[in-house]
Amino acid sequence: MIEYQNEALVDFSRPENKDRMRQALALVKSQLGRSYDLVIGGQHVSTEAKIKSEDPSDVSQVVGYVAKANQAQAEQAMAAALQAFESWKHVDGTVRSRYMLKVAALLRRRKFEFSAWMCYEAGKTWAEADADVAEAIDFLEFYSREMIRLNERQPLIRISGEDNELQYIPLGVGIVIPPWNFPLAILVGMTSAAIVSGNTVIVKPASTTPVIAAKFCELLEEAGVPAGVFNFLPGSGGEIGDFLVAHPKTRFINFTGSRDVGVHINQLASQIQPGQIWIKRVVAEMGGKDAIVIDNGVDVEDAALTIVNSAFGFGGQKCSACSRAIIHTDLYDAVAKRVAELAKALTVTKSYDEHAHVGPVVDKNAYEKILEYMEIGKQEGKLLCGGEKAEGNGHFLQPTVFGDVPTEARLSQEEIFGPVLALTRAQTFEEAIASANATEYGLTGSVFSRNREHLEYARKHFHVGNLYFNRKCTGALVGVHPFGGFNMSGTDSKAGGRDYLLLFMQAKVISEKL
Ligand code: NAP
Ligand code: MG
Repeated sequence: MIEYQNEALVDFSRPENKDRMRQALALVKSQLGRSYDLVIGGQHVSTEAKIKSEDPSDVSQVVGYVAKANQAQAEQAMAAALQAFESWKHVDGTVRSRYMLKVAALLRRRKFEFSAWMCYEAGKTWAEADADVAEAIDFLEFYSREMIRLNERQPLIRISGEDNELQYIPLGVGIVIPPWNFPLAILVGMTSAAIVSGNTVIVKPASTTPVIAAKFCELLEEAGVPAGVFNFLPGSGGEIGDFLVAHPKTRFINFTGSRDVGVHINQLASQIQPGQIWIKRVVAEMGGKDAIVIDNGVDVEDAALTIVNSAFGFGGQKCSACSRAIIHTDLYDAVAKRVAELAKALTVTKSYDEHAHVGPVVDKNAYEKILEYMEIGKQEGKLLCGGEKAEGNGHFLQPTVFGDVPTEARLSQEEIFGPVLALTRAQTFEEAIASANATEYGLTGSVFSRNREHLEYARKHFHVGNLYFNRKCTGALVGVHPFGGFNMSGTDSKAGGRDYLLLFMQAKVISEKL
């Protein structure tokens, strides 16, 4: 097998790639408004109730109608997953990897089309959608190789007179609950990791992005993944999500999403149900309030560009997005001025428009919540740019920057998950790091500095799962930057790293006296 390497990003400055993307967008547009079924034990099931998926760039446009499962169907999915587990757990790990490598190949062939679906369904710009697809391919390729590694004979101290073996075996049925913001990459990563390590899953996609999830299920079917190994069960988080999390046969939950839902799932999963014979494993990756710290003496233009890129890429709707920049007082005015200029110059328009820098936010709830935070910001800080809705028949907001925001302000403490950036002034580097650490989160962070002692100080004291120096705080690459956060940012599962698959397995040691 060739060595793992990250999927290359598409260069959209090349005319042939622009053409391919335009064609893909036209194809997807011609397919908007279709209906998608549940998949339970390999059977397609349609339901009366539907989830309507809207285009956030143009709310008059329906991306698709997706079947909405109820608890009876969730129970059927559990039965199908339990049955499939009995055979899938005995399929050799290398064979399971081959299925996922096939899925990766199928996705690679259709990458422009999958990007186009995310432009329409999630409000991703071309480049953001392409990065999402590339990450999905990376997860499939990386975890497949990881499973092959874990399938080999594992190192143990050997003693004479005994044959000792450690095998990693799967856990059982897992519930996969992804967020909408990486509607393909995170869904694919969480699902493929669980499947390749021998578990069977029920996938409950985010209700805002169920169509892209249905498209991924088509790839799993095309690759011939056996019936019941994955079950596709869109539906309400509160209704079937809770039901599945609480189910006594659920062995683990692989969740990525907000802090509150993650905490709720963890609580519910900890209650032992009648008939339950294990403690459920909960992997929960949650929110962030990520900061870039700007030390004295760095290049203002470089710092400002990086802040703007990290804050407003995908409209700030990344768990890793920079929502705070904490700037040494000597550079504060210069950086703040430039950040506001650059943010103001961003083009906010429909995400499938090739000129868009920033598309819409994902839905009406997000839109209204972010507008509220813009009003809070006007009380807590100094508005430097934006602060209002933007034009269009979708959920468009102006990239917004507030200056002189105190560390204790709500704007500095609460995850907004939109195009709102808070700037904070620090008197010293140590004060800047303390301010960066002063939230309940700990996902990503970045430090711009030319001072070796300061960088070493940050290495020790900046308490985040993914710490970057002199670069943006977004864009973690599978295999290169294993990803996961501390504190209320989650269980630090380090997706895309060598520790990840072990979360979905248990070790069995067999010792035979010779
Ligand atoms: P969310 O509202 O927490 O939803 C995430 C998923 O949980 C959705 O599928 C949702 O279903 C489901 N859900 C909701 N209530 C549930 C319940 N009671 N039981 C079971 N499942 C339930 O998060 P989101 O708005 O989709 O995503 C944004 C959040 O994800 C942000 O906080 C962001 O920081 C975080 N995130 C973290 C990472 C990371 O790696 N740390 C990566 C990406 C995103 P419905 O859609 O049906 O409600
Ligand atoms: Mg949500």
